[in-house]
Amino acid sequence: MTKIDAADFELIEAARAAIAANYDGQNYLHTVGAAVRCVNGRVYVGVNCYSLHGVCAEQVALGTAVTNGERCFSTIVAVRGGEGGDVLPPCGNCRQMLADYCPSCMVIVGREGDYFKIRASELLPFAYKVI
Ligand SMILES: [Zn+2]
Repeated sequence: MTKIDAADFELIEAARAAIAANYDGQNYLHTVGAAVRCVNGRVYVGVNCYSLHGVCAEQVALGTAVTNGERCFSTIVAVRGGEGGDVLPPCGNCRQMLADYCPSCMVIVGREGDYFKIRASELLPFAYKVI
């Protein structure tokens, strides 16, 4: 695990801005924002879309990046919307997605300002592999 740098704090702020602009705790329960930074420096954001089988904010951010042709990811983060805006660890489903798409991507985790990065592959040892 490594401490995060200024670019990582900017990524956290991008995720916070995404959910701040789209927060909805009443109707569609958009309550989490995420941001992924690509190796080329571009940043894509997303918010969760709630449904019976809804998608997490990380999945929306990564899917948006992939839709825009990105394939190489350096860092991803998710934050809680509303009061606080603290960093959230990826859920099990997202850990599998990260293992599938970008096992070498760094994931920002931690709490209350004490953040660090850990490689996605380390968050899901012995991940399921299709092939
Ligand atoms: Zn998730």
